Amino acid sequence: MENMENVLMQKYEFGKMLGQGNFAKVYHARNLESGQNISVKVIDKEKVLKVGLIDQTKREISVMRMVRHPNIIQLYEVMATKNKIYFAMEYAKGGELFDRVVKGRLKEDIARKYFQQLILAVDFCHSRCVYHRDLKPENLLLDEYGNLKVTDFGLSVHQSCTHLDGLLHTTCGTPAYVAPEVISRRGYDGAKSDIWSCGVVLFVLLTGQLPFKDSNIMQLYKKISRAEYKCPSSLPPDVRKLLKRILDPNPITRISMKKVMENSWFKEGLGTHSDHTDVTMEKIMENSLFKEGLDLHSGHVDVTPYIDPKKHELTKVSSFNAFDIISLSTRFDLSGLFVENDEKDEVKFTSLKPALDIISKMEEIASSLKMEVGMNKGGLLKFKKASESRNSLLLIDVEIFEITSCFHLVEVKKSGGDAFDYREMMKNDIKPALQGIVSCGMRSK
Ligand code: ADP
Ligand code: MG
Repeated sequence: MENMENVLMQKYEFGKMLGQGNFAKVYHARNLESGQNISVKVIDKEKVLKVGLIDQTKREISVMRMVRHPNIIQLYEVMATKNKIYFAMEYAKGGELFDRVVKGRLKEDIARKYFQQLILAVDFCHSRCVYHRDLKPENLLLDEYGNLKVTDFGLSVHQSCTHLDGLLHTTCGTPAYVAPEVISRRGYDGAKSDIWSCGVVLFVLLTGQLPFKDSNIMQLYKKISRAEYKCPSSLPPDVRKLLKRILDPNPITRISMKKVMENSWFKEGLGTHSDHTDVTMEKIMENSLFKEGLDLHSGHVDVTPYIDPKKHELTKVSSFNAFDIISLSTRFDLSGLFVENDEKDEVKFTSLKPALDIISKMEEIASSLKMEVGMNKGGLLKFKKASESRNSLLLIDVEIFEITSCFHLVEVKKSGGDAFDYREMMKNDIKPALQGIVSCGMRSK
């Protein structure tokens, strides 16, 4: 194993390589203390940096942390050295579902079982506002009991990044699973495009063939955008109907996740003890697990974005890497773990004040600056002001994350407008006004 100690952080002993992606190699490993088999994804920081995906990698770590479901590969912890980032994850002994499909089509009942598990996992993610965008058999693994486990959740490079350079095109791989609206870059609904990909996966499981194939990429796009595919006559009519509803090129009329789950073909054999019950249990466990907030040992802290009590809306649950939090404190400045982006006008700080106090303070600041304030569904505060000097609109986003009920992380960043105006305002007005609520080091990115 090149440049790698055999034991990671005195805790995990590396075994054979399980797979390789664009930025990462995945190894089998064993927890020396508990004997547990795990997998470790080793990401080359330099490569990620080169293509400017650091922020995305960080965000995606958070995404994986927040989607805990029996059919999703769990991320146990994240470690980092100077050159590498390590994800310690659940081990899927059965390997890729892909390897089963290349041997030929699956029996209807088996295909349905995998499809059910896939839909349950994806629906769970959607309930948390997480969209996979790269669902395909290579990212669907099997555990030792033959249960499906979705992986690469959020770690996939998103379609919007494909313009960066040629490398990312290969990351996105075959477009065979991608919904028409994603290809045409019409700006898409993540849930509907994931459903499309699940439909392609179902077709592949049932037939051993891709629904859309062509050696010419433009022809392939055409077929996808018209949903031109042929169902073998051997497929039962009810599943053919379901496929037709899923592979609808119009995302608006395409079947919703709710309707897929109500479909009679889908429901067959789905035990009364559905995975949903387990998920509720998991949710409760997870909440209590992270009550204490900072878990330095695992290098993680989970935080929940502030939920507006007035609206009683349960919004997305997010989480931050402990490195984000620790790096806020000068005493534990580990910011070298991730290279900071000076171009991004962002300030993070922590506060020991309750969320409502932070919000009032922010509103007070906004009003003194004659800025309009709004709050979106996700609990994000938006400040808006027409700039006098430059005939443009200055937009500032403020996001408040709850670490514990009396410890919050606040991110203030420019989401639009002139950088100079913003920096002046930050330095002269916002930062001084925040002094009263900041608990530990305010650091500009
Ligand atoms: P990439 O993001 O580069 O596509 P993946 O996370 O998909 O990387 O991992 C690459 C390959 O490594 C997978 O296709 C699979 O074969 C193997 N692999 C990944 N995660 C696991 C795991 N948890 N258990 C077993 N094998 C895995
Ligand atoms: Mg992958």
